[in-house]
Amino acid sequence: MNEIKYITDMNPLSLREELLAIGEPPFRAKQIQHWIYQKLAASFDEMSDLPLSLRSVLNDKLRLCTLSPRGDMVSYGDTIKTLFKLADGKTIESTLMHYPAESGKERNTVCVSTQVGCPVGCPFCATGQQGFERNLTAGEIIDQVLYFARHLKGFGEDKITNIVFMGMGEPLANYESLLQAIESLNSADMFGLSARNMTISTAGLVPQINRLSGEKLQVGLAISLHAADDALRNRLVPVNKKYPLKELMVACRNYFDATGRRITFEYALFAGINDSLSHARLLAHLLHGFNCHVNLIPSNNTANSDYRAPATEVVQSFKQELERLGINATIRQSRGQDINAGCGQLRSRFNK
Ligand code: SAH
Ligand code: SF4
Repeated sequence: MNEIKYITDMNPLSLREELLAIGEPPFRAKQIQHWIYQKLAASFDEMSDLPLSLRSVLNDKLRLCTLSPRGDMVSYGDTIKTLFKLADGKTIESTLMHYPAESGKERNTVCVSTQVGCPVGCPFCATGQQGFERNLTAGEIIDQVLYFARHLKGFGEDKITNIVFMGMGEPLANYESLLQAIESLNSADMFGLSARNMTISTAGLVPQINRLSGEKLQVGLAISLHAADDALRNRLVPVNKKYPLKELMVACRNYFDATGRRITFEYALFAGINDSLSHARLLAHLLHGFNCHVNLIPSNNTANSDYRAPATEVVQSFKQELERLGINATIRQSRGQDINAGCGQLRSRFNK
């Protein structure tokens, strides 16, 4: 039996080759990609300017989508979370967040997964507690975005304006597929979203950050810092033992120099663990003189009850201390907690 091939796993060149093998000219690749990424077609049958015979061959040979929504799409307010089933039966989750105009610029941000599970194993993270199963393919990453793009299209003219690689998994541990997905989502002939509107969140894989600096991409980088000293960070983000803070900060500065993009440091706040004023001072000291932004995220109280959110006043004091020391900070309320929209939560509930 032939191996099933998925169109979103293909870049323009490989699609052209695929079509050439069935005697189709190169322009067909562009035509098909336009249907998939711009017109958001969900089937070959919709591709009305392709000959019927070709549509039938494509239906036999290729698949349009790598994933299917599993169960209901859960939604509350402006956040929609979907659990997807992949071809091998494994599940991942993605979130669509609508930010209304009052919150600044109106945005539709999709938060996508890059792996099934995660090898980093942060103790506070629901995904980290599920272990690592496998990397996603480029098509599986892209299809999460296209799914929500079609969903929005169904409701009118709204479009995806931002993509954050902040769902399940460590994006930089799946570098090749991540880059291929970014290229397809960025290419003007394909999805056409500016790389500036995409953000990769990483636990801090130094070699891959350095590699990314050389890609000449304008993608935003968010570092999940959570602690400003190695002893604590070794515990919270275990990959710190391999790439300690000093090396991580050098890689961050290089990324900023290479791209001109201001780095975001994510700092989840856990009561009694990393939330004191002295922790804030340590953080300010680490980031001193670095053109960056700190995003404070009170713990979303998921997998592990040892990692609770601090009281609101503690979060406020932490922020004020950072600001007093000249560090830009905002507090991000994690959205959609009522629908288990924190990283890996829906899936862990489902697997139970
Ligand atoms: N693996 C990447 C991206 C996915 S996790 C990374 O770690 O950056 C996305 C973000 O959610 C990370 O900043 C992660 O630390 C944070 N996160 C995970 N569990 C959390 C929790 N219980 N409370 C607050 N933030 C959490
Ligand atoms: Fe992996 Fe990120 Fe969760 Fe850590 S926080 S276990 S790196 S997904």
